[in-house]
Amino acid sequence: MSADCVFCKITLHQIPAKIVWENAQVVAFQDINPQAPVHMVLVPKTHIARIIDLTESNAFVVKDLIFAANELAKTLKIADGGYRLVINCNSAGGQTVYHLHLHLLGGRQMHWPPG
Ligand code: AMP
Ligand code: ZN
Repeated sequence: MSADCVFCKITLHQIPAKIVWENAQVVAFQDINPQAPVHMVLVPKTHIARIIDLTESNAFVVKDLIFAANELAKTLKIADGGYRLVINCNSAGGQTVYHLHLHLLGGRQMHWPPG
């Protein structure tokens, strides 16, 4: 828990969010500024600021996030059509919230390069 972290507060149910799925390790909620018809944010319940902060001892959280996103994609019926998983790191990477998170985007055609 990081005291001023908005995603920590969501995992602790201290501020409102549209939580769509949760287990002991991961919380998934609707992005407040969706970039696609389906735009979920998946966060580990432990505070890790950035993907570059992963270590051998906490790297399992990325597996947890991806497995959760894959299951959610199936539940939301975007798996067969296709979806995108995104992790932004630091300012030029587009990261705005410094609690590691995985974006699950789907429900429309994605483009490349992503911009
Ligand atoms: P990033 O730019 O990769 O750090 O992604 C942060 C994402 O979190 C953005 O897509 C925001 O729209 C989203 N976001 C920020 N605050 C909230 C919130 N309180 N509830 C839901 N989504 C949020
Ligand atoms: Zn946090």
